[in-house]
Amino acid sequence: MLKKVRIPDPERRAKAYPFELSGGMCQRIMIAIAIACSPKLLIADEPTTGLDVTTQAAIMDLIAELGADQGMSTLLITHDLGMAAEYCDHIVVMHAGHIVEAAPTAELFHHPRHPYTAKLIAATPKPSVNLKDLAAIPGNLPDLRAASIAPCRYNTRCERKQARCDQALPQVLGELKHSVVACWNPL
Ligand code: SF4
Repeated sequence: MLKKVRIPDPERRAKAYPFELSGGMCQRIMIAIAIACSPKLLIADEPTTGLDVTTQAAIMDLIAELGADQGMSTLLITHDLGMAAEYCDHIVVMHAGHIVEAAPTAELFHHPRHPYTAKLIAATPKPSVNLKDLAAIPGNLPDLRAASIAPCRYNTRCERKQARCDQALPQVLGELKHSVVACWNPL
């Protein structure tokens, strides 16, 4: 398995202590452990946190290649929209623990429908935008410990809020492989 995830000198590395390995190697070993039983689905929760950009790309390419070779799907959990755009076929956007939108990747980026998704994309750093001109999402997340929380957890930050936004939201669970949005006044 270490060979498969391209650890150099795998027979020797198999006997190494974790502190003798680089961050990238530790990540590759985590992937080797995760795919050892040939799963149909790999859940990769922030798989490149703490790695430099080059190693991040190498790890993500490796996951994509292994997925294609083994017929394995990957559920990537990330805060990095750029990474999601590059590696995912379909994106599900969450805000404050709720799914707010799901769509095929190109569709989500070209035509975001939930106000939060649109703000999130606008706030993502791009080479063409100076960091000081980068859009910010106003307001804060709601306090999830509060006794009562509005059905739409984005409502205090939303510029498109309407009176009916206080009602229960359209249900999207069960429909996530299609384009869906949990919002009463989508874009
Ligand atoms: S449901 Fe209403 S408040 Fe919530 S995101 Fe949609 S428009 Fe905004």
